[in-house]
Amino acid sequence: MVETMDIRIEKNSKSKLQQVDLENPVFGKVYSDHMFIADYENGEWKDLRIVPYGDLQISPANTTLHYASTIFEGLKAYRDRNGEILVFRPEANAKRLIKSAERMCMPPVPEALFMQSMTELLKLDKDWVPSAPGTSLYIRPFQMAMDPYIGIKPSQTYSFFIITGPVGAYYSQPVKVKVEKHYTRAAAGGTGFAKTGGNYAAALYPAVKAQKEGYDQLIWTDAKEHAYVEESGTMNLLFVIDDVLVTAPAGDTILNGITRDSILTLARDQGMKVEERRISIKEIVQAIEQGRLQEAFGAGTAATVAQIKTLHNDGIDYELPDVAGRKYSNQFLDTLNKIRYGEIEDKHGWVYKI
Ligand SMILES: *Cc1c(COP(=O)(O)O)cnc(C)c1O
Repeated sequence: MVETMDIRIEKNSKSKLQQVDLENPVFGKVYSDHMFIADYENGEWKDLRIVPYGDLQISPANTTLHYASTIFEGLKAYRDRNGEILVFRPEANAKRLIKSAERMCMPPVPEALFMQSMTELLKLDKDWVPSAPGTSLYIRPFQMAMDPYIGIKPSQTYSFFIITGPVGAYYSQPVKVKVEKHYTRAAAGGTGFAKTGGNYAAALYPAVKAQKEGYDQLIWTDAKEHAYVEESGTMNLLFVIDDVLVTAPAGDTILNGITRDSILTLARDQGMKVEERRISIKEIVQAIEQGRLQEAFGAGTAATVAQIKTLHNDGIDYELPDVAGRKYSNQFLDTLNKIRYGEIEDKHGWVYKI
């Protein structure tokens, strides 16, 4: 049984909506009028509330500020042509947040609490969901330790937040990527599968270095041999070789992306051969040289599909097949978009209506 929890609502009397260009919002800079907060203390989530979006007051000794005791999620709400608000696979994000919490010694946010708080927040800020083609409302749930204590141990208190903000149509340009063979994003036994702050902070230095060399993103390789493809900074990686869709297994070191899973499901639906297995850089380079690599792309909530046009490995830039002619990934992108905006049948029950 799912209990309905009481959420206190304090409305924002000074809506900023009129000052925002909903057609062209700047990603990550504009936030909706309200945010959700719940506090965890003495073994339970309490004081569930929706309040005006605003700054937090935090002790300088807050453990998260020092030791990155923080986890997050990212998902989107879309407005369909009837004005209804649809969220893509939110239950999967709720489940993944629980997995991240477990690894980081945090109390889980129950799926019902996640779903109900997100639903109430979106109902209140529904006018912030843009309607122009390709736009959406980005939803950022996150959880952090709150003890004002600088000793290293699991916190006794936590907060769970949801903030949202409109995002413009994401026209993702094809990217140039560099295979990273020195730095490591995640090692076996580490935290690679969790969406936890430290993973992203630690990835900045190698990513900035690659950007200075002219590459948009990295292809991370395994920590042990730097021989196998892992993933990209915030995207999983998929390849089409000889008409087979190949991707590394989402395990210990690779984040279990919901976009990745959705694309694998669509591929299997249409009878395409799918392989989730280790894939070496050597195999990729050979497939490129033999003309057998047809497509290479990243998959994640931000861009859905980010086409890879150039792949750099060991001093060589390999130009990949023309993006416009990539029939599989372009079709996955199109199908996923149509499902999200409620334009075609949602066979898998992925769309959650607010
Ligand atoms: C969020 C994320 C992804 C993509 O996950 P989606 O659920 O598809 O958005 C992939 N890799 C990393 C490291 C991520 O943080």
